[in-house]
Amino acid sequence: MSEGVTGQVVFDSHVVARLEHAVALVNALTEGEARGRLYAVPTGGERWAAIEAAVPQDATSALARVEGAGEADRLAETARRMRVVFEAIATQEWDAAADGVNVLLRETSARPRLDRGDGGVWRLHFHGANDTFASGVGASCATALAMVVGGGELVERLGVCTAGRCDRVYVDVSRNGARRFCSGACQSRVKAATFRARRGGGA
Ligand SMILES: [Zn+2]
Repeated sequence: MSEGVTGQVVFDSHVVARLEHAVALVNALTEGEARGRLYAVPTGGERWAAIEAAVPQDATSALARVEGAGEADRLAETARRMRVVFEAIATQEWDAAADGVNVLLRETSARPRLDRGDGGVWRLHFHGANDTFASGVGASCATALAMVVGGGELVERLGVCTAGRCDRVYVDVSRNGARRFCSGACQSRVKAATFRARRGGGA
């Protein structure tokens, strides 16, 4: 992390992009509560639509997307394992976070290798060129989480929403790093509840 001339905090954009994919996959593919309501993971074609929205095609052009229940199941399993890491980070259980990351690295077969990207430039990737989409995305997300849990300053920026009836996760790339909610919706819910409580406790 470094301070640019404008005072804007500059994080490694590649790591941030992978963390944002991890956040989006956890929020799309793990059940629980979201913004005050029960969250059920979508099924069938809707599950794939959620995956497409979480990891847009242009972000992983090198990986062939083959839609199928097996691929979606694999991503869902990776998402459940990533949630464990986010929850451990949120409660500062570093041993559990590290164990969770190591499981992810192993299960996704993450490993560094150089592959030619656009314009023939060699790029560092953390999956094989012929990996499936689910496996490659999982490996990239696992590696990004490994980088932050293993000493990255961004580790303080990963969290689980602190609003009531919400367990969605987030990565905070704002300058002051004071984010506590998954979304503006949860921030508003908490503000409204605080306001009602101050007015005399009525609902
Ligand atoms: Zn929330």
